[in-house]
This record gives sequence, C-alpha cells and structure tokens, in this order.
Amino acid sequence: MTETVTLVGAGPGGAELLTRGGDAALRQADAVVYDRLVDESILDLIPKGAERICVGKKMGHHPVPQDEINALLVRLARQGKRTVRLKGGDCYLFGRGGEECEYLKAHGVPFRVLPGVTSALAAPAFAGIPVTHRDFCSSVHIVTAHVRAGKPLCIDFEALVRTGGTLVFLMGLTALRQVTDGLTAAGMPPDMPAAVIENGARGTQRKVVSTVGKLADAAEKARVHSPALIVVGRVCALSGTLDWWTALPLHGKTLAVTRPEERNAGLVDGLRALGAEVIAAPCIELHERGDTASLTGALEEKHDWAVFTSPAGVQAAVRALFRAGRDLRALYGMKFACIGSATAESLASCGISADLVPEAYDSEHLADALCREMQGGGAALLLRAAEGSRILPEKLKNSGIRVTDVPLYDTVRCCAKADELRERIRNRALDGVTFTSASTVHSFAEAVGRENLRGLAALCIGPVTAEAAKSYEMKPFTAQEATETALLALCKTVLEG
Ligand code: SAH
Repeated sequence: MTETVTLVGAGPGGAELLTRGGDAALRQADAVVYDRLVDESILDLIPKGAERICVGKKMGHHPVPQDEINALLVRLARQGKRTVRLKGGDCYLFGRGGEECEYLKAHGVPFRVLPGVTSALAAPAFAGIPVTHRDFCSSVHIVTAHVRAGKPLCIDFEALVRTGGTLVFLMGLTALRQVTDGLTAAGMPPDMPAAVIENGARGTQRKVVSTVGKLADAAEKARVHSPALIVVGRVCALSGTLDWWTALPLHGKTLAVTRPEERNAGLVDGLRALGAEVIAAPCIELHERGDTASLTGALEEKHDWAVFTSPAGVQAAVRALFRAGRDLRALYGMKFACIGSATAESLASCGISADLVPEAYDSEHLADALCREMQGGGAALLLRAAEGSRILPEKLKNSGIRVTDVPLYDTVRCCAKADELRERIRNRALDGVTFTSASTVHSFAEAVGRENLRGLAALCIGPVTAEAAKSYEMKPFTAQEATETALLALCKTVLEG
C-alpha cells in the first residue's frame, strides 16, 4: 500500500518553533528525509526505529540532486512507509517543496503539506525587528537573492524600492553587495536602516545592524556566515529596543542535558526558555525488569513502609504490580516514603500522598528521616533501581530495621551523542553539562572520555552527584536543593553573562 508523504516545515531553529502538526507527523514517521538546516532538537523527535536520510549539503559533499530526492520519496511511500519530508523554515518558501509535490502527484502518491515558521519572518523577530509596523511600512516582500555562478542578479530593484515596504532577502549573503548597490542605485537612500541576521532564531544567532550604504562592509568585517538573511527597511531601527532574545540570561550558551529521555523535558524546556542552546544527550536509559518474582515474594512478608527513591521507581512499581495481576492495594496498610518532591508528585498522580519526604532530597536524609520515624524497628520495602545507593539500606539495617530491596529497573549507560559532545568540548563550544545523578556523570565520562573533562562546568542536582563530577576533575556546582527548579536557577547564576 502506498503511504502518504507529509511535507513538514521545521521552522528556522529549535523544536519550539515546530508546529504541533509537524511534531505529531514526525513522531509517527517510519522514514524522515531531511535537509541540512534542520536543528538537532527536531531530529531528536524522530522515533528510534525510523529511517533517517539526510539529503542536505555537508562540508565537502554535494547535496543529493532534486530528482533523486523526488524518486526517494516515492520509493519510501510505496514501501508503505509513513514518510516525512522535513524542510528548513517553511516547506514552500524557496525550498523546492512545490517541485516535490508535483512529482508526488504525477506518481499517484498522496501527500500533505504542513507549513512551517519561515526564517524570513522568525529571524527578524528574534533580532528585534518586526517585519511590519504601522509607523513605518505597510508591506513586506520576501525575495531570493540566489545567483547562479557568473550570472547577474535578476531582481527588479526599482519596483522593490517603490513599494516602500520591508525587504527580506534570502540566500543573499554572497550577493550582499550587489543587493545593497542595486537598492541605492534604484533610489533608496543610503542611510536606510538594514541588517544581516546569521543563524536567526537559534542560540548562535548574530546580527549586524547598519544602513543599506554600509551593510556590506559591516557584514564583511563581522565575518557573517550562512545561513543568513538580509532585512532592509525602517523597521530595522527598532532592533535595539525590541531585542528580547539576546537579552535572555543564557543566550549564546550551550548546555548538555544528560538526564534520561523520559525525564528530561523540564530541564530542556527550562534552559531553552532561559535562552540557552540545549543538547539533549541522555546518558542513561531505564530498563524495567519484566520479572516480578522478587516483588511478589517480598509482598508475602509484612512491611511497614514502602520506600520510593525516584519517579521511575513509582511508575515501575505500579506496572510491575499490574504485571503480577495486582495493583497498589497490595501495599495496603504500609506508609509511603519518597526521596523528594518529584517522586512524591509521581505517587500523588497515582492517588497516594506520601507520608514522609525528607528535608533534603537525598538517600542520606531519607535514611535518617526513616530511622527517626521507625525508631529502630519494623520493616521497609525499597522499590527502586537495581543500582540504587548503598547508603539507604545500610543505614536502615544498622539501626535495626529489616530491609527488603526490590530491584524494579536497571539504569543502563548510553550516549548517542558522544562524538558531538567530545568535539564540542575540544572546540570549547560547550559551556556546561547538567547532571541529575551520579550514574549520569559516570556514563557521560565513559562516553566522552575522562581526559576531556578537566575544568568542564558540571551543574549538579546534589552533593553526591557533584562528588562524582569532581572525581573526573570537572568543575562542579551544586543546586541549593535537589529539584529541577533549583538546578535551573543554578545554571542561570553560574553561566549568566
Ligand atoms: N524554506 C526556508 C528558506 C530556504 S532558502 C525558510 O522558509 O526559512 C535558505 C535560506 O534561508 C538561507 O540561505 C538563508 O538566507 C535563509 N535561512 C534559513 N534559515 C535561516 C536562519 N536560521 N537564519 C537566517 N537565515 C536563514
């Protein structure tokens, strides 16, 4: 059966500018054919098992010719694969999306088009330039300034100048001087405000704001690189006043988040909201154990407290009970202890409120609080990771408590982005790494190589994690308390400015 091809506009930068429709299409894709300009955070949304094909230009390589891309889309759809053609910005704006759809139509392949946020509008917005403004202009014109080698620019500058509107030129960096000369020759005053925006709407955005008469020299001096676009018009004069993006505290900083994928959204989104470029690089995976024998065995004995040390532990316990044909009522009569607020929230979402959460969110404080509550007697059932901290059971046992430790899931080391991270560390293009457990520190160190870690800022959720980072000679910083909010605040204080 022939499947649908969905053209998706990826937007100009990170996943926050991808539409919800585009996001849904990507998550359901069997195959994704994408351009070079598409951001990593969007590629991260592609399901693990799906085929990924990059058809964009890479350093020293030629892009895949358009007719091969067309044929590829038809082939994938005919193999019954839900295929997404992911394009930078909007799919139809200078992206050859029209040609692809004509080809699909001619070959009887059904297609959908989900437009994207175009760089032509988003890059100015992120640079503090509203493309229209009642006080300055009443139209905006988007023009390609792409030139074929040796050919002159084919743009009607007189017509453009006559509109009095804002002009946005894409693919115009190499022809920048031809564009500005063309405009002034057509009667535009040389002191008309103008700007070049490089990597617009991305953490690495740079802008050069000048006048049409001086823009080419200014951009040359600033060594502007592609992708970049040119904006010409009086609205460019607002770019200082309306700059909100580079004013964000972590603008221009790049941070890696090593937390497991299921749990990293809060940190990733929080850091992006602070303006940082974020690399989601999970360094551990959680694998739930299928076997429920140790849990059901433990439930035959009487316990006074059920103890959870992570949200994953709560979820794993609920699922393991279900697999064993039971549910949370199997813990009836026990009291519930949680290591911290996130674990307590996870338990609350199951309808149970925690009886005990220690003052500081770590194993040591949890153990002390439980010892106080249980007064050296009774039995505790630990429902947690196989590689959980030894401190907790030891302290409980030492104070005379009977402990049953049930391993519900394993934490497995992984790091799909090790090469990228190593490269960035070597090029000093990584400002810090967030760690929410010692196990992520060890896994990260193993993946990128401990010899690369000296002096790297490690933003840690608690003292045990910081200790692990220190053992690799990283520069550890510790959050005020073991919460995501405190870790975000730490990133802001350490890296701001
Ligand atoms: N379909 C895309 C444009 C493709 S043409 C869109 O709607 O955005 C490629 C050109 O787009 C580049 O040469 C550059 O001029 C511009 N461009 C794409 N992404 C950009 C970005 N993040 N910042 C500045 N310009 C960008």
